[in-house]
Amino acid sequence: MSFRMKTLGAFGVTLLLSLALACSVNEEPDPSFKNALPKKDPVSRTASKAETEADLRQRAKRIHTAAVTMDSHVDITGEDYATEKVDPGIDNPELRCDLVKMKRGGMDGVFLAVYVGQRGELNEKGYKKVHETALKRFQAIHRIFNMYPKRCELAVNADDVERISKTGKRAIAIGIENGYPVGEEIANLKKFYDLGARYITLSHSHHNQICDSSGPEEPLHGGLSEFGTKVVAEMNRLGMMCDASHISEKSFYDLIEVSKAPIIASHSGCYAINPHNRNLTDDQLRALKKNGGVIQIVALDSFLKKEPQAFLDALAAARDELDIPTWQEFYKLSEKKRKALRGNMERYWKRRDAIEKEFAYVNVEDLVNHIDHAVKVAGIDHVGIGTDFDGGGGIPGFNNHGEALNVTVALVRRGYSEEEIKKIWGGNLLRVWRDVEKVARNLNP
Ligand SMILES: [Zn+2]
Repeated sequence: MSFRMKTLGAFGVTLLLSLALACSVNEEPDPSFKNALPKKDPVSRTASKAETEADLRQRAKRIHTAAVTMDSHVDITGEDYATEKVDPGIDNPELRCDLVKMKRGGMDGVFLAVYVGQRGELNEKGYKKVHETALKRFQAIHRIFNMYPKRCELAVNADDVERISKTGKRAIAIGIENGYPVGEEIANLKKFYDLGARYITLSHSHHNQICDSSGPEEPLHGGLSEFGTKVVAEMNRLGMMCDASHISEKSFYDLIEVSKAPIIASHSGCYAINPHNRNLTDDQLRALKKNGGVIQIVALDSFLKKEPQAFLDALAAARDELDIPTWQEFYKLSEKKRKALRGNMERYWKRRDAIEKEFAYVNVEDLVNHIDHAVKVAGIDHVGIGTDFDGGGGIPGFNNHGEALNVTVALVRRGYSEEEIKKIWGGNLLRVWRDVEKVARNLNP
C-alpha cells in the first residue's frame, strides 16, 4: 500500500470502472503454440510475425486461463471491508479487487493485506493500538469467507491455492503489511499465523521495532534490529514468508543473511528503471536470486516511472489550494488534526484521480518493462506480480483485476512462453511459499 491510499482510509476513493476485455475467448488448444517462438532470451524475443493480433490474444487468453494466477499484494479498505458498506462480492466501483473482477480477469488467488500504518510510538501504547487494528482487519478479511463461502476460500498454504483454484473459487491468502503490530512479543507471530497470516512485510514507510524502512533517510537500527532477527527466526520456524518490500537496503541484506528460507518482495519495482526508494537495485535482485526468493512487480505508477514535472506541478497546485500537508508532515500530525483534514483530503484525492487520468503517464508496457528487467537480472524463476490494488496500485490498462489478461497479452507480445508466464503469474510465488514451508518442517522435526 502506498501512502496516498492509507491516508484515504475509510473515505473511499473514486475508481475507474473496469473496461470490458475486448478479446475473444478460444478454449480450443492450439498444438503449435508452444513452438511458435524462437528459443532466445525472453527479454529480446518477439512473437511470430505470422501470428495475427487476434491469434496472439487468443493464445494469451489460453495461457492466462491455464495459469494459476496469484497477486501477492492487495489492500482492503479498512475495518468496513466485507460489510454492506464495502461489498467485495459485487462489481464494486470502490474496489479494484473484488470477487467479480477477479473472476472476470481470470485471477485465481490473492494475498489480502492486514495493513497498519506506522506511528512514531515504538512502545507498549503504540503496539497495543495497532495490534487491535490488525485484529479488526483480520476479522474484516475473515468476513468475506462467511459472506461468500461458495465463491472464495482461505488459503493457508501453496497447495490450498491450487486446490481452491480448481474448484472455481477464488483463493484468498493473508499477509500482514508492517510488522509493527507484532510489538515486542514473539508469541504474536504464532497468533497471527493461526489467524491465517502467511507473510509479513517487515516494515512500512517508517522504521519500526523490527527494522529500518526505505522511507526515512536517517536509519534507526542500521538495518534489522536485534528483535527483528528473532522475528525472522520465528517466521522461518512457523513457515511465514518474510516480505522485504518497504524495508531499507541494509535491512534487506540483513534479512537475506539471517533468513533460513527464501524471501519475497511482495510489491516492488526495479530501481535501475526507476530510482525510487521502494524499488530493488540490480544487486538486490541478484541477491534475491541467490536466496531463491521472488520480486513481485508492483502496478503503481510512481514506482514504475518517474512522474513528469507537469504532473507533479498539477498535484502541488491542488495540494496548495486545499492546504494538504506533505506525507512527512501528515505523519507528524495528531489524530485530531488528521481528522480535521478529512474533508479536504477527500477533495484532494478526487482532484488527484482526475489529474492522474489527464496525464496517464504509465501503462502496462511500463509494468512489463520492470518484469523484463527483473527477469534479465534475477532470472525467470524469481519474478512475479503484486499489484498493490486498493492500496495505491492501478495503472491504465491494469486498473483492476478484471483487466489482468492485458498483462498476459503484453507478456505474450514480448515473447514470453506459456511456461514462463505461468511462473510470473504465480508459479514462482507458490514455489517460494512451498520452500518456506519446507524450511519450517525441517526446523520443526
Ligand atoms: Zn505497501
